[in-house]
Amino acid sequence: MNARLAALIRPEIRALTAYHVPESNGLIKLDAMENPYTWPESLQAAWLDSLRGLELNRYPDPQGRALQAALREAMAIPDDMGVLLGNGSDELIQLLALAVAAPGRKILSVDPGFVMYRMIGLFAAMDYIGVPLQAEDFSINLPAMLEAIEREQPTLIYLAYPNNPTGNRFDADDLVRIIEAAPGLVIVDEAYAPFTDASFMGLVGDWDNLLVMRTVSKMGLAGLRLGYLVGPADWLAEIDKVRLPYNINVLTQVSATFALQHKAVFDEQTQAIRAERTRLQDALNQIAGLHPYPSEANFILTRVPTGQAGALFAGLKQAGILIKNLDGAHPLLTDCLRLTVGMPEENAALVRALTALLVAPDCAG
Ligand SMILES: *Cc1c(COP(=O)(O)O)cnc(C)c1O
Repeated sequence: MNARLAALIRPEIRALTAYHVPESNGLIKLDAMENPYTWPESLQAAWLDSLRGLELNRYPDPQGRALQAALREAMAIPDDMGVLLGNGSDELIQLLALAVAAPGRKILSVDPGFVMYRMIGLFAAMDYIGVPLQAEDFSINLPAMLEAIEREQPTLIYLAYPNNPTGNRFDADDLVRIIEAAPGLVIVDEAYAPFTDASFMGLVGDWDNLLVMRTVSKMGLAGLRLGYLVGPADWLAEIDKVRLPYNINVLTQVSATFALQHKAVFDEQTQAIRAERTRLQDALNQIAGLHPYPSEANFILTRVPTGQAGALFAGLKQAGILIKNLDGAHPLLTDCLRLTVGMPEENAALVRALTALLVAPDCAG
């Protein structure tokens, strides 16, 4: 045991295992909520043209002004609200923590929820409080939530809308009650906005403590790492002070601006994913032993027969399909798998493999 390491690195950091991304080479990738579609060839060519004049020897625009303008236009961001760009929305979660962290300050969210709220809270030495969702449908337990807000007085409250990893969208009235009860900021995380019709984007400004966070990752640009935070300009100006200069690199700025000018292509793709989500949901419902939950995201959470999640995960991998096994991640996720909606042929392969594994589990190897 390295004594100096043990003395210097905080025990809660030493207790962590580094964020694990499984090897996916050669597999049908249905584990990470990526958009499976690439761009039409003509669009790829136009994108490469847009990169041609770039000067990589120069620092990028520190504010990403052209990109901000493209986002405002494409995403219907209210004119009087501020925008803050992050290297993925993960970085925005980190900036928020850096701006407010102090001994005894707390982050509150629901469990099971997005793991980065808890992780980044831990990095910033903030306390994390997770209020359990209701077991039957993963809805918010509003009395428990309001009671926790009153008791803990959290500085930050995160609510993913729709929620990851459960896929459901919380009741908008519940969120309003939470925003009105919160002593601190409430961040509505709309990472899955392309896959639902509901949004709080049109409501920013209605409450001084509401921020809406988005990402371009799930819509089809996960490789660029770009998130954005929208809310009252005075809040964002303070959070902006802890952002490192040039956090959005020049390739991301130009590529995302280009992509947003062709947003119709992404809208078509995300509409196709939504239609495929309905078909996959129906197909999973037909498989005896599976209990898929309703989803407004680009993935479906499904309960599987007791004790079989690990074997099904392994069997699918054997069949060339990578998904996410959530069994053991939280008591409410026992026997649960998360399936990202892929292309029609990928989803068909998933349904075939799941059917084979559940009908003849002993033959699955
Ligand atoms: C995927 C996801 C994010 C992270 O998005 P990035 O912009 O890729 O960092 C944030 N919140 C939720 C709820 C997500 O599922």
